[in-house]
Formats: sequence, structure tokens, C-alpha cells
Amino acid sequence: MKIQRNIKTRIDQVDFKNLSFGEIFSDHMFVCDYLNGKWNIPKIIPYQPISLYPSASALHYGQTVFEGMKAYKDNNGKVWMFRPKENWLRLNKSCERMMIPEFPEDYFMKGLKKLLSMDSDWVQSGDGNSLYIRPFVFASQPNVQAAPSKEYKFIIICSPAKSYYNDSEFNVLIEEKYSRAADGGVGYAKAAGNYGAQFYPTSIAQQKGYLQVVWTDANEHKYIEEAGTMNIFVRIGDKLITAPTNDRILDGITRKSAIQLAKDMGINVEVRSITINEVVNAVNDGSLKEIFGAGTAVVIIPITGFGYQNIDYKLPSVKDSYAKRLKRAITEIQYNISDDPHQWRVGV
Ligand SMILES: *Cc1c(COP(=O)(O)O)cnc(C)c1O
Repeated sequence: MKIQRNIKTRIDQVDFKNLSFGEIFSDHMFVCDYLNGKWNIPKIIPYQPISLYPSASALHYGQTVFEGMKAYKDNNGKVWMFRPKENWLRLNKSCERMMIPEFPEDYFMKGLKKLLSMDSDWVQSGDGNSLYIRPFVFASQPNVQAAPSKEYKFIIICSPAKSYYNDSEFNVLIEEKYSRAADGGVGYAKAAGNYGAQFYPTSIAQQKGYLQVVWTDANEHKYIEEAGTMNIFVRIGDKLITAPTNDRILDGITRKSAIQLAKDMGINVEVRSITINEVVNAVNDGSLKEIFGAGTAVVIIPITGFGYQNIDYKLPSVKDSYAKRLKRAITEIQYNISDDPHQWRVGV
């Protein structure tokens, strides 16, 4: 790995108390080029613009995927990652689907560790504070032929973050017209186009007063699949239900962790399809206790209500909710507060 340090840190210009998500980036970035059929020697350089030809393939055909993960600082100032190997595995699942060459594990892990150790001051300690890490790969070959690129860039950038949805109202619209993913499609991959395509339906929902869209299956709009860019959980009675992952649903690491920790707590977890009807019936008979989203950015966020076929349903506020218990259990592992029975923490 080649390393070129920033001469002067920009950290003193950052107002860590008033961060809006994804706007400010740490001093360095990790860059690795795929040229002549192989990943070249990676480097860490100051965060800076990159130069590309306008014919760079990713700009035309969207051959690009990303990951999202975080680093956390414990009360002793040590920096930790959470299940980073899962991100590496998923990155390569996404790459495979988009015909991008696999990225080597040791480049990914060593690159992350070195970058985080160089920019460790950017990881603030304290509840909710973290450094959001964005690894991504894109097709950089200057060629507009509709074919897989022969050149790629893999980059990791980091952005300081606070927990960015607050605990207030979070109402969602159950989407019955637009779809996020289809059978045989790329919904399971963190492929850039999946997200760009969500903006329009989400903005329509927002005009109607909802914060996010709950995606349903593209075939029948009968099953609940994901909440925005989060996996979704429904609690009916004391049962916690979440949809199985498939080629439409992203295999979230927060989802996976929440399922495991819920089982550890003795909660009855069912991984199965959930119909909208089941949810509506459960609201009406009072057995619906919680719905929540799960993803790296927010960990777990309770949904307070949902709109479906022009009716707004309010969810009860429950004491000692599964959402709260699971969020606490996950974050205590992330911040090195609790034991780590599944060895999810990785020190930097
Ligand atoms: C990234 C993502 C998630 C959450 O995955 P985590 O690994 O928990 O962050 C869920 N759904 C979609 C569509 C996503 O892109």
C-alpha cells in the first residue's frame, strides 16, 4: 500500500455537533485501480476530486456498487468496526451481479484498518457518533460500448455521522404502484441505480406527508419487503417477523444481527413473508405492537404509522419495545460496552 498523508488536517473546521449526513469527508481516502486485468497496488491519499473521462462507463451504464458501514469509538478511545467481513462478502455479491471483478479481502480489510487508523480523530466517541464508511467500485474505462468495463476504481471515503433520524414521528406509505426490485433483478445488490430509482416514488410519498416508502413485492403488491433503504420488522403479539432475503431483498447486516440478538433474548423470531393484510388485521385487532426499520445508518428506527389505500394507521407506543431493546443490544456491542458473544467487533 502506498501512503500519502494530508499535510494539514481539515478536522478543526468541522462542527461535530451539527453534522448533516454525508456532507463532510475525512482527511484521507483509499483508492485501488483495476487495470490490465488485475487490482493494482492500493494507495491512501488525501481526500480529493478524481479525474475521469466523460466516457467513463459507470456514468452511462451504471456499472457501480457500494457498501455502507461504520466505525465507532469506545470510551477508551479505541476504534471498532462491526462485522466488516460481511460488508466485503456483500460487496462481492453485488460486484458479481454487476460484472465487476471481485475485490480481494486483504486489500479491503487492510485498507479499512489503515484508513481508519490514519483518520481515527474523525471517529468521535459518544452515543450515536460514528464515522460512516462508504466503500464503492465503479467502471472507469473510457468507452461507451454497452459492455462490461475493463477498468474499475475501488474507493473508500469516510464521513463523520451522528444518529440521523430522531425519535419523533416516522410515518411511511405502503407503496402499491412503484417497485424497488423484481424477481431476477438486482434488488439484493447495493447497485447504485436501485437508489436513484427510489427518489421519485419517495418524493411522491413525501408530498403526501410520509417520510419514506415501504416497498411491496413487484408482482402483486401484497407482501411487505423493505422500508426505504432498510429491512423491515413487524411485531405481532410477542412474535417478531421479518421477510426472508431473496433476490429482491437486501441481506442487511443489521437485520441479521437483530435476528440473532432477538433469538438470544428468547424472542420468538419468524423469518417469513408478511402480507399487508396481516399487518392491517393486526392493527385492527390490537395485536400489532411494533414495526421498525433496520440498517447501518439508523441501527433500528420505530415506524410510528403507515398509510395504505388512503387510510392512515397509527401504531401504539409500547413500553420496553423490541426496537429499543435490540437497538441497545446492537449499539452496546458496536461501542464496546457489552460482551460480544458472536465476535462481531473488529478492532482497528
Ligand atoms: C444497505 C441496505 C439495507 C441495510 O443493510 P445494513 O447492512 O444493515 O446496513 C437494507 N436495505 C437496503 C435496500 C439497503 O440498501
